[in-house]
Amino acid sequence: MEKFDIIVVGASSAGSYFARRMSEKGFSVLAIDKSPKETISPAYDIFHMGRDDMKRFGLPEVHKGDGIWAFEFEEQMMLSAYGNHPKPSNSWVVGMHKHDYIVRMNEWAEEAGTKIKYNAGFDSLVYDGNGRICGVTYEENGEKITAECRLVADCSGIPAVVRRSLPDGYGIEKFELTPDDMFYVTLRYVDFIEKKEEWMKSHFWLSYKSWLAPSAGSDAIIGMGSCFGFDYVEKVYEQFTKNVKLPAHKVKRIERGCTPYHRAPYSFVADGFIAMGDAACITKPNCGEGCTASLVLEDIAVEYASAAMENGAYPTRESLWSINKKYNDTQGKEFASLMALLASVVRHSPKANEFLFKHDVIFSRKILGGMGTGGLQLDLTDYLKTLFFVIIGIVTCNITIAELKSILNGVISSGKLTELYERFPETPDGFEAWVNEAELLWKKAGKLADWKPL
Ligand SMILES: Cc1cc2nc3c(=O)[nH]c(=O)nc-3n(C[C@H](O)[C@H](O)[C@H](O)COP(=O)(O)OP(=O)(O)OC[C@H]3O[C@@H](n4cnc5c(N)ncnc54)[C@H](O)[C@@H]3O)c2cc1C
Repeated sequence: MEKFDIIVVGASSAGSYFARRMSEKGFSVLAIDKSPKETISPAYDIFHMGRDDMKRFGLPEVHKGDGIWAFEFEEQMMLSAYGNHPKPSNSWVVGMHKHDYIVRMNEWAEEAGTKIKYNAGFDSLVYDGNGRICGVTYEENGEKITAECRLVADCSGIPAVVRRSLPDGYGIEKFELTPDDMFYVTLRYVDFIEKKEEWMKSHFWLSYKSWLAPSAGSDAIIGMGSCFGFDYVEKVYEQFTKNVKLPAHKVKRIERGCTPYHRAPYSFVADGFIAMGDAACITKPNCGEGCTASLVLEDIAVEYASAAMENGAYPTRESLWSINKKYNDTQGKEFASLMALLASVVRHSPKANEFLFKHDVIFSRKILGGMGTGGLQLDLTDYLKTLFFVIIGIVTCNITIAELKSILNGVISSGKLTELYERFPETPDGFEAWVNEAELLWKKAGKLADWKPL
């Protein structure tokens, strides 16, 4: 029987990174992916990563002309619902061809010793006499193969095939994403009729969860994400193009794909198990990007899983628990708070958005600039300014009472979730009581999909 320390299911961005880093630590790692190498990660062509993130995680570099690099840009602009009040920011973003970069990441993992098997689909988990995970059965070219291991990492993306196959009571949630728990993303690759410098940078309209960014092989990508399905995206797109004057363009091609929009499982770990990437719903709540967001969890996982597995030890739920704690102390609490805030705050009209954008509250430079970066700190002055302008907005009929209630619910839920995630238990003791509190708060916060404006 094949024997490894770790088996990673899914060898896209999350799986390749974890496999590489655990191989570097000296563990034997097998990564299996159901796709052939030629078509791995083909869902869409262009994806973005921050240059700084690529450096921070030590990812393979890309350069102009290498077939992976597509473009780079630095200037970004947030705009109101009617395309006004620009709020500029600067950070280097690299656009890459996703499939080619994933193949590069696969090779990068192999260079450190990871064994990758393509056309190898997960079948089931194998358990020892105490009911603890001790291996995986997978299907390769019609043959069922069983491999032993101490740790299984679910990096299978939205299907979360391993997490969802765990027995009830194994210590990790088995939820499946419903259509309401996903973001349906549509990318239009366009050429401008008249090329103008101002449109060659990135623009973002939070009101419609829409953006325009430079592209390769076409002048730009106009992207939009929404709950409820691709037909609904088109409805919002219609409203967006009515309210915002985009440059005249012709659409060359359209791509569609889904990204999770659900809180992360309360625990990522169980005996001999960890979930990461889209399988653990680790995506930035403000834009749905998941590649580098997951690496924050994975970096923590590498540190604690390698300590838990030292000298041949079996990684128990208890010995992996610090991964939950460290993640929730950092990005976990920020994403939870942002997700709750956005679920309520997006329930407003373009008119209210225009007003708030103009007065730099809620959609302020500070909040928009800090989203998903880990650096968002609001003080009393921010809250007082928000309160003042919300009252003015109501008096001047720019904001309705229903919108105010929703904003308040978002701000309160967001604050309470931050405080709760800061109190995430240090050990599995007390976890059940913590989960009960979390369930109540998430129910109050609601979901983005609870509101259908059109
Ligand atoms: C249109 C669109 C644009 C996006 N743009 C960006 C962006 O610019 N930047 C960004 O950071 N994020 C972006 N995202 C999100 C990003 O694509 C995901 O968050 C990221 O790909 C998740 O990586 P992952 O490795 O967890 O899962 P995936 O990339 O989904 O990989 C899962 C892997 O598991 C394999 N697998 C599945 N089932 C099995 C099985 N049964 N057995 C074996 N293997 C299996 C699959 O073949 C696949 O290779 C975008 C998403 C969409 C839809």
